[in-house]
Amino acid sequence: MRIRREDVEAVRERTRIEEIVAEHVTLKAAGVGSMKGLCPFHDEKSPSFHVRPQVGLWHCFGCGEGGDVISFVQKVDHLGFTEAVERLAARAGIELRYEDDSGGRATVRRDQVGQRQRLIEAHRVAAQFYAEQLGAAGDAAVARQFLLGRGFDRDAAVRFGVGFAPRSGEAMLRHLRGRGFTEEELTASGLAGQGRRGLYDRFRGRLLWPIRDVTGDVVGFGARRLFDDDGIAAKYLNTPETAIYKKSHVLYGVDLAKKEIARQRQVVVVEGYTDVMACHLAGVETAVATCGTAFGPDHIRIVRRLLGDDSRFGGQVVFTFDGDEAGQKAALRAFEEDQRFVAQTYIAVARDGMDPCDLRQTHGDQAVRDLIADRQPLFEFAIRTTIAQLDLDTAEGRVAGLRAGAPVVARIRDPALRPEYARQLAKWLGMEIEPVMRAVAAAAAHPAREQPRSADQAKSGDQANRAPSIRIDPRDPVARVEREALECLLQVPRLVPGLDADALDGQAFTVPAFRAVHDAVRAAGGMAAAVELSGPAWVEAVRENAPEPVNPLVTQLAVAPLPADSDEALERYACSVVLRVCELDVTRRIADLRSRVQRLGSGEESAAAFADLLAAESQRRSLRERITGG
Ligand SMILES: [Zn+2]
Repeated sequence: MRIRREDVEAVRERTRIEEIVAEHVTLKAAGVGSMKGLCPFHDEKSPSFHVRPQVGLWHCFGCGEGGDVISFVQKVDHLGFTEAVERLAARAGIELRYEDDSGGRATVRRDQVGQRQRLIEAHRVAAQFYAEQLGAAGDAAVARQFLLGRGFDRDAAVRFGVGFAPRSGEAMLRHLRGRGFTEEELTASGLAGQGRRGLYDRFRGRLLWPIRDVTGDVVGFGARRLFDDDGIAAKYLNTPETAIYKKSHVLYGVDLAKKEIARQRQVVVVEGYTDVMACHLAGVETAVATCGTAFGPDHIRIVRRLLGDDSRFGGQVVFTFDGDEAGQKAALRAFEEDQRFVAQTYIAVARDGMDPCDLRQTHGDQAVRDLIADRQPLFEFAIRTTIAQLDLDTAEGRVAGLRAGAPVVARIRDPALRPEYARQLAKWLGMEIEPVMRAVAAAAAHPAREQPRSADQAKSGDQANRAPSIRIDPRDPVARVEREALECLLQVPRLVPGLDADALDGQAFTVPAFRAVHDAVRAAGGMAAAVELSGPAWVEAVRENAPEPVNPLVTQLAVAPLPADSDEALERYACSVVLRVCELDVTRRIADLRSRVQRLGSGEESAAAFADLLAAESQRRSLRERITGG
């Protein structure tokens, strides 16, 4: 059973790769027709992940991964080929047809559609069911009352898709079974639990928030306890880990917030579902929350990608804490994380220890906006929290404050920030600057202990160092121009001089890997074929004609940014690099002909070689004129 080839092609043609990628990575323009962002497949601080919409391909120059939109979805969502195509087809509104391996038609049976798609579908149906139940008579009134008591009316409940799980224990199961979901799917979805007497509804008599992934698909639920006789004591209950729900990767509200996060280059991390709702309703539309787990390294990675975070333009990450000790500890723990992340991390603590939900209810929307506006840098928060308990009116208190605060300042690794915070610390302590500077320098010279790199960081570090498939000597001008010419042949075949390009033979490229790509270009029909095809179809044709090991290089060349900032400049560039390869080729031929003429001395053969030599030299002159003439 496989999806028909034409349908796969239709999915590729009708899907805009930049839109799919933008759901996971914030992209910005990188030259004509090229976009870049932080790679979702390795940890990096400056963007080397490129997308080229016209050819429908992506490539990361950091880790060497690359491919088309289908392979992107496969990798980013951990899907098989069929499931990835199904997902994109559903999005593009394309109905897929399947065939068996002999090529004959086969009818689609439900259980043959990818499991992930089934679990997503089960959650979609479940979310709708729960949302409807919230309006039902009886027990649901308690759920509605809970929401009203926190300032959320019917419209708010609808906006966030909040629902109610009936208390019976099998209402959801009956509903999903009625929609044709199998027992296996119900178990795999996490919506049902397995008891001694069979399956039962996981969520019973609880208020439910649907948790969506960045694309807006519901992948799980967060459930709050409402009734005293609830057999499960935990106030909050979440979907267990499933094929589509990984708690270390989900952020509640990310689907609603992602656009504003990218636009404002800010993300607000709050602690609960009601806080996310309160923030969004109050106009802080960049708010998200973790679901039943602390904000961890995977969340940092997701947030960074949404911020389009790179070394030049730092986005802001604002954590809200309710001001109690747990919140402060959490803030100090965040200090242990990657410092580049910390440098743009802010803490917002409401003065009276309220969370955004309480704040909105008590003081209104403006108070929530003010809370975020009054954020302080994490470094400042960490230092001030450290010295907060001390009585700075006494000399002893100030010295104790210096002893406690200096090591915190010393842990700031950014050499530009450290003296700045040392000055701040002096101000907060009410001390002279010099002793504070000395204390910080001493603490920096003898750090208490270095944080060991976590296994996770070590792993992604290795990945980042992995070399791209082909490396060429950047100082070799011939290799460089061959690369540049191939990039143009693949990316902008309409802008290159087609007749000259198609006249290049199997010897024209000298770097073996590039020659292999050029062979594939010629096998795919050269520029004559390229101009007849769409960008993605042309590159696909070249990929199909390239031997397997050369394929990643084709992708890489098809995605590499071209150094031009306008269409005219791009055309000039494409023309000149292709003609340069022609010129190099002719130059080699001239050298061969010269030595041949010398070898042959006089005679008919020599005269013919001489004529060839003159023709080649004249060809080279005209090429040079065209290169310099533009
Ligand atoms: Zn990468």
